[in-house]
Amino acid sequence: MTLGVPQYWALLLALLLLSVMALALIFMLRRVAPEQPGPAVWMRALGLVLLGMSVAGLTTLQTGWLWRIVYVAGSGTLILGIGMLAEGLRRFRGGPSRMRRLMAGVLAAAAVSLVLEMMSQPLYSLLWMSAVAGLTWLGVGVTAWRGMRPGFRAIHVGIALSAAVLTTGWWLRGSFLAQAGPSGWRQALPEANAWLLILSFVGSGTMALLLVLLVNFRLAERLRAQAVRDPLTGALNRRGFEDRSSRLMALSAQLGQSVTVLVLDIDHFKSVNDQHGHHVGDLVLKALSALAHRAKRETDLFARLGGEEFCLVLPGTDVPGARVFAERLRHSFETLEIDTGRSFLRCTMSIGVAYASAPMLQDQRVDLVDLLHQADEALYEAKRAGRNRLRFYASAEVLSSRLDSRLFASTGGHSGFGASRQTWADSAAGRR
Ligand code: GH3
Ligand code: MG
Ligand code: MG
Repeated sequence: MTLGVPQYWALLLALLLLSVMALALIFMLRRVAPEQPGPAVWMRALGLVLLGMSVAGLTTLQTGWLWRIVYVAGSGTLILGIGMLAEGLRRFRGGPSRMRRLMAGVLAAAAVSLVLEMMSQPLYSLLWMSAVAGLTWLGVGVTAWRGMRPGFRAIHVGIALSAAVLTTGWWLRGSFLAQAGPSGWRQALPEANAWLLILSFVGSGTMALLLVLLVNFRLAERLRAQAVRDPLTGALNRRGFEDRSSRLMALSAQLGQSVTVLVLDIDHFKSVNDQHGHHVGDLVLKALSALAHRAKRETDLFARLGGEEFCLVLPGTDVPGARVFAERLRHSFETLEIDTGRSFLRCTMSIGVAYASAPMLQDQRVDLVDLLHQADEALYEAKRAGRNRLRFYASAEVLSSRLDSRLFASTGGHSGFGASRQTWADSAAGRR
């Protein structure tokens, strides 16, 4: 296939335009997501590709040693740019930098090319650089393939395929030139380049689009994650809690699992703020959240309901299990020494617990709102009883669980399911 001169230039121009557009898009991404390391590297990479391609393209047929050196430098720049696309992909997914290795590879390739030029073998120099360029694109493809992770598979596969198209372009060009041989390669160059241009057009256009999509998807994912979390503690916020908990409750009913709800409230938190300052209060909130995050299972929910009040939803946990969990959490908070920068601070918290068995949930005799109310009520009793302790809402199920009666809270008169009343007893902290 040979392109006429106008088509050739039209294609070249279109490729140039595409590259400029890709550059503009990636520049925009950098502005929108400056914390993402990929786009900054891709921009530099694309700049190098454009520069290298122009220099190498304009000097391919030039003779004279100075021009040959310029040609080799241009090809080297082009290959460096291609390699940096892979570097950007690696940094984007948080991998280690391979810049040194890449630079060493490019310098070695350029040195080989220079030797071939010095031996007056411009064709072999050209073939060598085409082969290396194709290989480098292959490296980009492999990097994209390796970086694959759930949710972004299609994009990674797409980038790998685009890279394969570009590799094909460079190797096809090389094979055309090789077939033409030392005497005919200059005449074969337009045809060889036509293949490269067409495949580059397809490959790089697709790849630019996919890179933009990749960053956009990542951004959307981050924003979604941020929208459901409290920035200070990393706990779910109300929006996240409502969303996840309704799914969790439905799933628990479906699987026949019980659900336990814990409401935690730091004791005398206001005085921590008053005595040590708001920032120390924030440290305490973070410390408690870190404890809860560490203690909970993957399937448990941990949310900040507001202020210094948190909630844990534990699916598939029975009453004795919930007691052990809550008691351990209370104890580890009590004994935690929080580094305020000036001194070590110790705080306590009170915990209200509510429990619903699988049949209760399945028959819709109780829902999460009820459980939260009940846990709140139990929390109130824990506070009333002197703080730094836990209380269970005394539903019939909890009462039948052979729990120490001192752990029960009064049902407060609005029992959802006929629980017996007033079975809690005061106990001093530490006698739970
Ligand atoms: P109790 O033992 O009865 O729970 O008393 P308390 O002082 O812990 O409870 P109270 O509800 O009186 O005070 C809660 C305080 O929490 C008041 C508010 O200033 C503080 N607070 C709420 N949100 C934050 C926050 O994000 N950071 C900090 N540092 N303080 C907060
Ligand atoms: Mg409090
Ligand atoms: Mg409170």
